[in-house]
Amino acid sequence: MTKPRPNVYTNPISKVPAWRRNLNLAYNVTLIRGDGTGPELVEATRRVLEGTGVAFDWDVVEAGVDIMETAGTPLPDNVLASIRKNKVALKGPITTPIGTGFRSVNVALRKELDLYACIRPCKSYVGVRSRYTDVDLVIVRENTEDLYAGVEYPVDSQEAGQIIGMAGGKIRQDSAISIKPISRTGSRQIVRAAFEYAVENGRKKVTAVAKANIMKYTDGLFYEMAREVAKEYEGRVEYDEWLVDAMCMQLVQKPENYDVMVMENLYGDILSDLCAGLVGGLGVAPGANIGKDMALFEATHGSAPKYKNQNKVNPTALILSGLLMLKYLKEDEAAARLEKAVADVIAEGKSVTYDMKPDRNDPTAVGTAEMADAIIAKMQA
Ligand code: NAD
Repeated sequence: MTKPRPNVYTNPISKVPAWRRNLNLAYNVTLIRGDGTGPELVEATRRVLEGTGVAFDWDVVEAGVDIMETAGTPLPDNVLASIRKNKVALKGPITTPIGTGFRSVNVALRKELDLYACIRPCKSYVGVRSRYTDVDLVIVRENTEDLYAGVEYPVDSQEAGQIIGMAGGKIRQDSAISIKPISRTGSRQIVRAAFEYAVENGRKKVTAVAKANIMKYTDGLFYEMAREVAKEYEGRVEYDEWLVDAMCMQLVQKPENYDVMVMENLYGDILSDLCAGLVGGLGVAPGANIGKDMALFEATHGSAPKYKNQNKVNPTALILSGLLMLKYLKEDEAAARLEKAVADVIAEGKSVTYDMKPDRNDPTAVGTAEMADAIIAKMQA
């Protein structure tokens, strides 16, 4: 007997209609290869996802520094059009050169498509080298507001001067300015996404993280909205609050006490890397960017350009992002098989990349493609 599946239309984390699943049609998915080590990681992940037996029809598109030279932009229009059409995308990392005026393609994609919820599970797998063994946390990061909204004015600009004038002596004349917008709408929808994720995944607690003792209006509004939304889930999901600095210490000391954590964009960016460190590093930290009716899946890590074309870096984070995509598509059985295969390969510790070996120079470390092969072989064993 097949396992009953939840009605996808009551599930805010999935929008794939039941008829598509029942007819077993291939999923149309936009595949963004990225740059740096992105193309190698994407290729490994594509093969593993196909190894689950789920059918995909990939629309391969290019974004990032490599396409910049020919297209004149790192984010050509066909990339956004493809994601808008397919509603689901898998993406390799994309480089953001520092201090060049070239804005982050990663941030632009999330903003353009209103992928407001970034979901980053951090889970300990046996065999991953870490100081902790029992971590199972999920960061829900707001993706479109905060200091990442891109409202910035350079030092000595007219706009910066106007704001400095309005601030009544609180800002030095020679300041550059970044604006931190936090809205009722954005706060409510990210907190609701965290609670819905908790309900959907049988999680017990949502913790809101901010710095409302200092930023009384912006972070104060975030807490106010969080408390309002939390009331709707009373009796089903617990709610608590931590200041971001205290939360960092809590996470380092007792990560097992936390479950789902929801926060604004900047705190989410920083705590995602902290939590990735708790479970073995960026090589194993997946992510999903989810909007009202579309989703883009990508690893937490960046393009690791120094390892480009070396078949060296760890594909686990992007493969686990692919696993989140399978769950979004309600391919739960394939997702469970994939997770078991990844967990088994890591636990055996044989066919893993250099970063997962006790000694990073271990000559028995395998490459990106070979680790993917080992995961595929486990699924088919
Ligand atoms: P990074 O995540 O690329 O690398 C940080 C460290 O982690 C490096 O030592 C790297 O070698 C290692 N690392 C990263 N991924 C790994 C993997 N899969 N396996 C093994 N080791 C891995 O961060 P960075 O160096 O700060 O950023 C490089 C570029 O990536 C920058 O331009 C940055 O803006 C961009 N970036 C992109 C994304 C994204 O595409 N979503 C996210 C973060 C950073």
